[in-house]
Amino acid sequence: APAENPQVVIDAHGLPYLDAKLPVKKRVADLLSRLSPAEKAGQMTQAERGALTAPGDIAAYDLGSLLSGGGSTPTPNTPAAWAKMIDGFQLRAQATRFQIPLIYGVDAVHGHNNLVGATILPHNIGIGATRDPQVAHDAGKVTAAEVRATGIPWDFAPCLCVARDERWGRTYESFGEDPALVESMETVIQGLQGAADGRDLKRNDKVLATAKHFVGDGGTEFGSSTTGSYTIDQGVTKVTRQELEAVHLAPYQDAVDRGVGTFMPSYSSLDILGDGKGAVKMHARADMINGVLKDRMGFDGFVISDWQAIDQIPGDYASDVRTSINAGLDMIMVPYAYKDFHATLLDEVRAGRVSEKRIDDAVSRILTQKFELGLFEKPYADTSGASAIGSAKHRAVAREAAAESQVLLKNAGGVLPLKKSQKVYVAGSNADDIGNQTGGWTVTWQGSSGDTTDGTTILEGVRKAGGSVTYSKDASAPTGGHDVGVVVVGETPYAEGVGDVGNGNDLALTAADRAAVDTVCGAMKCVVLVVSGRPQLIGDQLGDIDALVASWLPGTEGDGVADVLYGKRAFTGQLPVTWPKSEAQLPINVGDSAYDPQFPYGWGLTTLTKVPSGGLATLKGLAVAASLAERAGAEEAGRAIVGKARLIVQQKVGQGITSAVAKPFADADHLLLTGRYARAVEKLAAAYTAA
Ligand code: BGC
Repeated sequence: APAENPQVVIDAHGLPYLDAKLPVKKRVADLLSRLSPAEKAGQMTQAERGALTAPGDIAAYDLGSLLSGGGSTPTPNTPAAWAKMIDGFQLRAQATRFQIPLIYGVDAVHGHNNLVGATILPHNIGIGATRDPQVAHDAGKVTAAEVRATGIPWDFAPCLCVARDERWGRTYESFGEDPALVESMETVIQGLQGAADGRDLKRNDKVLATAKHFVGDGGTEFGSSTTGSYTIDQGVTKVTRQELEAVHLAPYQDAVDRGVGTFMPSYSSLDILGDGKGAVKMHARADMINGVLKDRMGFDGFVISDWQAIDQIPGDYASDVRTSINAGLDMIMVPYAYKDFHATLLDEVRAGRVSEKRIDDAVSRILTQKFELGLFEKPYADTSGASAIGSAKHRAVAREAAAESQVLLKNAGGVLPLKKSQKVYVAGSNADDIGNQTGGWTVTWQGSSGDTTDGTTILEGVRKAGGSVTYSKDASAPTGGHDVGVVVVGETPYAEGVGDVGNGNDLALTAADRAAVDTVCGAMKCVVLVVSGRPQLIGDQLGDIDALVASWLPGTEGDGVADVLYGKRAFTGQLPVTWPKSEAQLPINVGDSAYDPQFPYGWGLTTLTKVPSGGLATLKGLAVAASLAERAGAEEAGRAIVGKARLIVQQKVGQGITSAVAKPFADADHLLLTGRYARAVEKLAAAYTAA
């Protein structure tokens, strides 16, 4: 514990709630019975650490929580500095009469992304592309270990949004457009919180997770919302009750069942068609937070608001506070006006507009998580796991995740995998930029281009894996006997809002990226990698491109991308969202009646050279078969077959969406094997594996 210790009167010694042997419920009840209204209001207040006007405010306002949010002041950049900072705050909380520890929270949405040198995993859209629950789990595990080792017990992740319109700037935070896919990636919660009956929070490598943003953040309507750049983000989700249940709410019951400790409502408004209420901000929706989340789904953790989100509820501040707390929010991420919030909440309680019962329920929920995290016994940072931060072991996990996340959209003539003997010409804006390949929420909120943190760029990965490699960012002078070009294009980082604003909220490539593709693909066989948080419109250049890869935002381990390019590992990723032909098609989702995308949901060729065990009983087996056919020159046949087969699956998934028990692919396999395309594929596969 830190050396400095302010002189205070501590009333806590020997009280029952400090007895770690008592059940948490008893400890909570004991402590709650001793707290004043002001202390209770304090527990419900979360301030931004950069907003504290004096460190003594922690005790003066009995603050229950602090955060370093996206819009935070610059963060410390070493593990030790983080731990020291948080211990300093905790020391203040320990100087209150009941020594209730603070719970400190950050957004670690793809690794400990606030920290320079941490392991950065692919953003969720890439994790969704892996279709591999183990990858999601391990991503959570690495994140939790690195975060807790710097003294932080709480992570505002995972985002369980079901992204339905790629113009939404937070599409990259989604595991995909299909609720069943999102649900299947919720193994990340166990990775974060621990495996023992869902939670093992006292461990020094686990953190409390947050399911966000409840509910419908991924369904906001284009152009229907407020001001400025926040056209779609934080907008209105207009849905029938049936669509709300089947698409947006569907993944959340599983998160509750997995024991996720906290929930964060969405900034967006929800307009349930036909209920006569119109668009109501989620932070004000008692029907959804009290009614659906807590009562129906049985969520017994606590609900934290989004950043300043209660300010968006219509009415004065007192009404914002009253409405949100009465809707079921337990803690408010104020994050600046913590004094005001504290005073206002107290007033509302005194006036009886917020009941004491409600406050007691909120505080009980918060204290329960603090006890379960072991914070009363160990309030200060346990940095013994800090050597794991950015370690080779963690980077290996991120590399594997990056490799599995790569989706091979086109592979004419089998240009991939590359061979070490080939002379490779690498070009493009995202080939050698760690900032661009990690995206938003990396070191800073919005992230930025350039050399922001430690890692391996895609170019560096290719240099290690390949033979002769020449690089030119702008694709100048690409002639001179290269065998194949690798052009890496895509987006620059962003976190929220409309996304890549430099592109004017359109999904087209920049002029420079388009020129690089033209130049290289005009001069040699070429592979185009799209490093982006969402699909980019590529249709008019597709004919000139030999191989096309959706790389998403792969994180710090460019080696993982090189692994699949060079065949060290096969491409097995599948599209987690539909890849549109044009912006006019948006929103476009699997199951739509007129579904005619560039590449359908679930698309992804493979470079596996033989059908894996289980053979055609798996989707991967099917993809292999078609891919083998394609590589043998039967491009049209192969594609058509994959296309049909996948479309059958998609329709099945599409139907699944309308029922609560959707389990994609499981019985779709059966369908494929008995369907009329199955036999054709099987024949092809047999022919090509034999050959
Ligand atoms: C985001 C949340 C995030 C919070 C704290 C908000 O702007 O919507 O996802 O957890 O900031 O940084």
